Amino acid sequence: MKTKNNKSFAVIIFYLLVAFLVIFVLTSPAAAWEDHTSLTLLALADSELSGLTVNVTSLEDFIYEHETELALMLDQLDNYLLKKVENYPALPPELRFAFNRGNSPAEKLFLALRINPEYRLQYYLKAPPGVVMDNRKELIFSDMAIIPYNYRYARFYQIAPGEQVSALEVVATAADEPDYGFDIGLFEDSGTSFGNIYGFGAQPFGNPQISYSSQAAFHMGFYNESPLVYLASPSLKRCYPEMRALMFSALSRFAFIHGDEYWGYRFAGWGLHYVQDLTMPYHASVMPGSSASKLVWVGLLDLLGISGPYNQLVNDVSNKHLLLEMLQLERINSLYSKGDFEHSLVRALQHNSVTETSFTEEHLRDLIAFNARKAGADVDEALEQVIRNRELYESLHEFYEIENYDIYEVSYAPDTEQFVRFQNVLETILTETSTHSKSYINWILSGAATGENINTLE
Ligand SMILES: [Zn+2]
Repeated sequence: MKTKNNKSFAVIIFYLLVAFLVIFVLTSPAAAWEDHTSLTLLALADSELSGLTVNVTSLEDFIYEHETELALMLDQLDNYLLKKVENYPALPPELRFAFNRGNSPAEKLFLALRINPEYRLQYYLKAPPGVVMDNRKELIFSDMAIIPYNYRYARFYQIAPGEQVSALEVVATAADEPDYGFDIGLFEDSGTSFGNIYGFGAQPFGNPQISYSSQAAFHMGFYNESPLVYLASPSLKRCYPEMRALMFSALSRFAFIHGDEYWGYRFAGWGLHYVQDLTMPYHASVMPGSSASKLVWVGLLDLLGISGPYNQLVNDVSNKHLLLEMLQLERINSLYSKGDFEHSLVRALQHNSVTETSFTEEHLRDLIAFNARKAGADVDEALEQVIRNRELYESLHEFYEIENYDIYEVSYAPDTEQFVRFQNVLETILTETSTHSKSYINWILSGAATGENINTLE
């Protein structure tokens, strides 16, 4: 009798935990890194892209010219992803490129890739920090972003098909682009017409009422959580940055193989975004710095009506996530604008230990996200030590929206003793970002050079 009661109790706790963990993640517009463009410019500065120029082509022309082969490749891509990506939901047949109801070539492609078909694709470069491109028309962030946010320092300049532009700048610009709304509204409870037909099911975590939270599952890779966490919340396994990184690498190689270098670089940059996101500890773990048992314990207390520790933990993770992004943005922007390329933080991004092509598809989960998760405890502790004004820190999300906020009202400044430990940890993480950025781009380019695409793999 006792055993039976214990069993029922365990079942009840299990289901309550599922409910608890499903809403646990992300209450804010977290972007992983801010400004992937400057990270990419530095990481790839001495790569083979440096100094290359490329002729801008329109997406429509690219699609028209290669329509038949593209349709075939996208079908093969679906099979490839089914084999390579755990929990990949097959493309519903009505979304296949050759058959879907997109109103334009671009919309047909977006539907077949299952990205937000309302994304307004532009031809532009995102300026490196401190650079003003006087001779070009400036675009504003809301011209592109599905949901614009206070994107500090960001400047965008229009380019046009037929122009020659820097290949490195195309990749670096594209590496920032998926955060502008590719992955917003793709679930069946997102309240969008396309979310209903995409086949991704209900939003696996985050609050579906907050539209930007719907992109989280595409930019966060909880691939290395403990069995206890997966048991409590199986839906955490439904996350898709790996799918995006592989999908766009295949498109990039396809474009290169078919002679369209602009789209080769732009698709490579889109894929690179997700690789870089996976190097961010707050995107590779539900609760960096907290053990699975602590997580489950505060969840249980919350269920018993003691909500303080639960709310505290959720707010703290959400604030630390944002603080890390804000400090990264400020530091890199400031050093880059001043041309301080000898600074150790910049050098960490230009770290050059990986010269060989060593990337494999398995690295996304087993190495990149794995290392980022492992760094979680260190980064959590370092952020804890760098907080100067706890009251402001507690309301960091409101602070972020202030037009000209000064992040050093919240944290200690870079020239202080308290900042040193944080900077060391940030350097370690950015070295990872740099290393894997290089190896991913090398992998795409070397595959393209030998004509290797998904249709040549078994
Ligand atoms: Zn992202």
